[in-house]
Amino acid sequence: MSKPRLLRALSAALALCLALCAGCAPKQEPETDTFTAMDTVMTLTLYGGEPDALAAAKDRVLELESRLSVTDPNSDVSVLNREGTAVLAPDTAELLRRALELCAQVDGALDVTIYPVVKAWGFTTGDYTVPDGAVIADLLTRVDYTRVRLEGDTASLPAGAEIDLGAVAKGWTGDQLAALLREKGVESALLELGGNIHTVGSKPDGSDWRVAVRDPADPEGYIGVVSVADKAVVTSGGYERYFEEAGVRYWHIMDPKTGAPVRSGLASVTVVADSGLYADALSTALFVMGRDGALDYWRAHRDFEAVLVAEDGSVTVTAGLEKSFTPSGKRVLTAADP
Ligand code: ADP
Ligand code: MG
Repeated sequence: MSKPRLLRALSAALALCLALCAGCAPKQEPETDTFTAMDTVMTLTLYGGEPDALAAAKDRVLELESRLSVTDPNSDVSVLNREGTAVLAPDTAELLRRALELCAQVDGALDVTIYPVVKAWGFTTGDYTVPDGAVIADLLTRVDYTRVRLEGDTASLPAGAEIDLGAVAKGWTGDQLAALLREKGVESALLELGGNIHTVGSKPDGSDWRVAVRDPADPEGYIGVVSVADKAVVTSGGYERYFEEAGVRYWHIMDPKTGAPVRSGLASVTVVADSGLYADALSTALFVMGRDGALDYWRAHRDFEAVLVAEDGSVTVTAGLEKSFTPSGKRVLTAADP
């Protein structure tokens, strides 16, 4: 073959190759790990980034768990609960500080000092029981987040008080992981931390992540899907942890005013927000507030969106989700007034 003909043949082959490859951008294979931490099953799915990103993310979860767990006697939280005062790791102090601000912001619907009550109902051990009214009344005298002191990294509690960061720990962990993964060059990740979903960027093909919202009446099914990128999608549901006695269902989300599992008419609350911590705090707090209180709160703040599922099966979606929430089935949807 003469030189010019060879060159032409080569360039034709190259052009064909480029044409074939144009439609098939290199498909990135995800790296994934599933493990149990913070009392739930977690699955981390990462696309790209540094080789140690996945291992570093898992290590970070385990590190935060070891500081925040109420059942690990060596955690910062357990030491504080036992001793009444403790010098916290900077991470723990930061989370406690922000959690206390959020408790105030939702006017006590979230209260990190609820732990003695949660224990009395057996939610930490699985030895479920309906405590006596007098016992609850006594325990409630110890519940008051405004009496927690935090100066620098040193926290102290009034006598008998104990804290539980369970309502915010996974959301905060999602934020920490997203920041860590970005530092490690990961631009696309799906972090499933039990009922907390945290998305980093969009899917590798540029489309939104699609996150299913479970049906509280049938946790195998779902009531719809939200499309998101770079958001936390956090659900608190009565179906997640509960027991039944004499035909009544008692779940793990407490009304700090009554010291009993909250009965607000809601069966689940899903919050979509930029911050996992905020979404987690709100999913619990809005559940306590009930539908009307939750919508009032949303109108006053407008820095998150929510899907509220009532015990009667009705679904309310805040206005900002109208385009990104796709309901499944024929349930009535009421978008809240802006
Ligand atoms: P989950 O952790 O199951 O995803 P939540 O984020 O709603 O659900 O947190 C519920 C946990 O938080 C409970 O297991 C309990 O330890 C604690 N908790 C329950 N009610 C409250 C409350 N009103 N304020 C603060 N913490 C609460
Ligand atoms: Mg929560």
